[in-house]
Amino acid sequence: MEVTNNFVAIKAKIEGAPQESDFELKSEPFSLSVKPGSKDIIIKNLYVSIDPYQINRMKSYSFSQKASEFATGIVPGEMIDAYGVGKVVASGHPDFEKDDYVVGLISWGEYCISQGLILNKLNPLGLPLSYHVGVLGLSGLTAYAGLFEICKPKKGEKVFVSAASGSVGNLVGQYAKNLGCYVVGCAGSQKKVTMLKEKLGFDEAFNYKEETDLHLALQRYFPDGIDIYFDNVGAKMLEAAVANMKLHGRVSVCGVISEYTDSGKRAAPDMLSVIYKRIAIKGFLSGDYLNLFPEFLSTTIDQIRSGKMHVLEDVSIGLENVPPAFVGLFHGDNVGKKIVQLSND
Ligand code: NAP
Repeated sequence: MEVTNNFVAIKAKIEGAPQESDFELKSEPFSLSVKPGSKDIIIKNLYVSIDPYQINRMKSYSFSQKASEFATGIVPGEMIDAYGVGKVVASGHPDFEKDDYVVGLISWGEYCISQGLILNKLNPLGLPLSYHVGVLGLSGLTAYAGLFEICKPKKGEKVFVSAASGSVGNLVGQYAKNLGCYVVGCAGSQKKVTMLKEKLGFDEAFNYKEETDLHLALQRYFPDGIDIYFDNVGAKMLEAAVANMKLHGRVSVCGVISEYTDSGKRAAPDMLSVIYKRIAIKGFLSGDYLNLFPEFLSTTIDQIRSGKMHVLEDVSIGLENVPPAFVGLFHGDNVGKKIVQLSND
């Protein structure tokens, strides 16, 4: 059977902050049958992840495009691959069958074809499918690995996380709180600040947009210094955090979203203080820590089921909402994991 597959594409390379007009909805005829002899998996996309790193794939040049097969450049007019959950419509692949749920690389479209690369069968474990896009997917693994593997937090240590109401940030804060750390987050609105403290139990939170001096803001919340900084934003916040680190502090560099849309912005931390305070600064990719997935999954599901972990999701419905959802990431429109539901199960 043949259907029309609608998908979202970029019209041209995007150099600054993305706008909805940079995107178009395209259509193409799409066969729901597998060609005889092929190992194709035909997938109906159900929930797709909306992630900041995609902007770096949409540029003419970004270092990330050559550094990771997950972050290659996106070609204008073509389908955009993205993490998400789907359902198999037909399969010539021995590991996948019709009606299997799958998680991994699907697309910003109604249907996609996979050869099984970065795709796994999904057992929803009695939890909503959308959880497997965010809290139990790559966002969750990113928070878990970046905090526990890179920063090795200990009970009582002082943790600062930026973009704290976002997908990765809120989980970092919650993991650290559940371990018994003192946790401060920053976010871009008073409403988010209140949510972090009242709903997620952060010890403190502040609106970075209202601070004229980030060094002083961090001194206020960490008079004795920061043990761990989980960086989601880069630039001035990274400089201010480094300046406030304790001796032997650890910085997990997860993302630098404030630099993605402004090529002139770059963090220039005081490296002499890095040396004399023996601060460890480490970048990482969640894909490096897939070995932790089983441990991450069981720990996180336990925390969700026992009520110690709140699941923050921000779900839009319909393919046409992919561009505004993506653009909104760079304006702080989302609270928690931004997901677009593309179809009902
Ligand atoms: P997210 O935090 O859910 O969404 C992005 C948030 O960033 C926005 O809600 C906004 O919140 C904040 N933001 C946007 N522009 C900003 C700016 N100019 N300055 C400061 N904050 C800004 O996104 P996410 O998926 O969890 O990703 C968070 C970071 O982790 C990103 O840098 C991403 O690239 C990175 N990441 C890395 C990996 C990895 O493997 N290393 C994996 C996933 C994500 P406010 O209201 O607070 O401004």
